[in-house]
Amino acid sequence: MIKAKITAQNPSANLRSYEQTYQFFSWSDVEKEFTWYQTGKLNIVHEAIDRWADDPDKGNRNALIFEKAGQSTAYTYSDLKRISCQWANLLLQHGFETGDRLFILLPSCPEVYFAMLACARLGLVFCPLFSTLSFDELEERLENAKPRGLLTHPDFAEKLPYEAMNDVKHLFLTESPLPGMFPGEVLLKGLSEKMPAGCNTCWVPGNTPLYLLYTSGSTGPPKGVVHAHRDMIGLMITARYVLDLRPDAVLWTDCDPAWVTGTVYGAFAPWLCGATSVVQADPFSASTWYRTLERHKISVWYKTPGNMRRLKEAGDDLTGRYDFSHLRHIASVGEALEPELIYWFKKNFKITPHDTWWMTETGMICIANFPAMDIKPGSMGKAVPGIKAAAVDENGNPLPLMTMGELALKPGWPSMMTNIWKDDERYQAYFKNGWFLTGDMVIQDEEGYFYHQGRTDDLIKVGVKLIGPYEIERALCRHPAVAEAAVISKSAKPGAPFLKAFVTVNRGLTPSARLNQEIKTFVRADLSSDIVLKEIAFLESLPKTRSGKLLRRVLRAQELGLPAGDPLNIKDY
Ligand code: ATP
Ligand code: MG
Repeated sequence: MIKAKITAQNPSANLRSYEQTYQFFSWSDVEKEFTWYQTGKLNIVHEAIDRWADDPDKGNRNALIFEKAGQSTAYTYSDLKRISCQWANLLLQHGFETGDRLFILLPSCPEVYFAMLACARLGLVFCPLFSTLSFDELEERLENAKPRGLLTHPDFAEKLPYEAMNDVKHLFLTESPLPGMFPGEVLLKGLSEKMPAGCNTCWVPGNTPLYLLYTSGSTGPPKGVVHAHRDMIGLMITARYVLDLRPDAVLWTDCDPAWVTGTVYGAFAPWLCGATSVVQADPFSASTWYRTLERHKISVWYKTPGNMRRLKEAGDDLTGRYDFSHLRHIASVGEALEPELIYWFKKNFKITPHDTWWMTETGMICIANFPAMDIKPGSMGKAVPGIKAAAVDENGNPLPLMTMGELALKPGWPSMMTNIWKDDERYQAYFKNGWFLTGDMVIQDEEGYFYHQGRTDDLIKVGVKLIGPYEIERALCRHPAVAEAAVISKSAKPGAPFLKAFVTVNRGLTPSARLNQEIKTFVRADLSSDIVLKEIAFLESLPKTRSGKLLRRVLRAQELGLPAGDPLNIKDY
């Protein structure tokens, strides 16, 4: 564990004193900030869009800036109110009723956001999907959720599993040509604009389903996690405290809208704060990314360590060519943020990235580094105000500090999932002894900072002790030739692991037997004597989920000769 601390970056951030806020925090105080607290009429779209759109001073503020191929289009809060009403009217015209599902199978584009808002407005459930899903994955999700409608682009219509679409009444296409393969095809281009710009928002109870999202599938087949309108309470407060959003903030959540981070922190969370969200839909290149920061005067940047690594690989000299003077906060999520990346960004951007932790099921950031709090590199921070977190043993009993255990949260925060779609057994399995179990292993230090140690499934038993692969992977990544690393045990004998590492090398370097030996010797010096790395294999790239997370289970399956199949769909073993 690293003892060094980086001094707080911004003592005058929204959350100034962590300890004090944590101690006196109450969710009901946050509820008072919403209009429904007075009126009793609740809908997330009213709070995120309409309340700003209806304010003459705020309606013309940009809510969404969408950029692709050098072209950017801005939508004000008033625009989003009008367009989402038009889309809502269109859905009503096609017979959608409260509780119906709409699948959104599109790459990042403005229509994704219009559809999400229109559904929410009507009390429908939207389900964003990665446009790269395979035929089988789509089939599985269609059969599971039975949506009434599916929104897509003609480019993706070919791979639709039409046999699984019996319950789908309408196939909405953003553009022509229509595939002509499905009876209920509807061309949206030109149609939604003709719809009336006013509509009645559907007032709903707070636990009304808002979206259904299938998890990343890092540890097993994805689960359909359901979230409700009341999530807004947690989204607003975390956007304010963790991302430090204010109404003048320009946030770029650098993630696909089909991944939960893009769904909520790329849309609803910034809008609940009256801020601007920037969406960049180009393929990744460091220069495009830096140009986006400069062009849109991004002030807050929320991204993944994977994306940060790619920027680091592009080199130090590039950053000096752009103006990042508006950038005041960087936060990261999805994987552990290695200290090397923190220091690289600190050097090249003069800003320290802040790690945050959460999962699809929690609905909002739950553990975080806050701008007004010192950072301990390697730690994902402290529990967000309103969240009680602990490391627990296999019976759900809290462990002493500095002991590795499973990260557990006390249920009761407002953004927690309401259920797993049609799978109550899987939902109930999250809870033990009054705690919500996360499946992640952590250590909490004396000051309340949490350190991620890997997922429960990835743990390796060495003698009687359990170690996380992350510790060894970090040691490997400290070698100057190593870009990324994944460590597994290929032994079936508990307690007697056969540790194997898979590594990729930095650009311009060639793997060799000599380098292999050199890396092995290098890590040996860094690890305790009972942890012996026996094998290192060089790979071109490591298997990852669509949201960029390492799939150690795929490497294990390949190593143990189990059927690898579709890497994202391998069942538990
Ligand atoms: P599945 O549940 O289908 O296996 P998944 O857990 O990867 O997929 P997500 O909900 O997108 O799906 O990701 C949540 C997980 O991401 C967490 O449980 C944790 O393992 C990992 N994660 C998120 N943030 C961090 C972080 N800051 N440090 C380390 N791991 C993180
Ligand atoms: Mg998970």
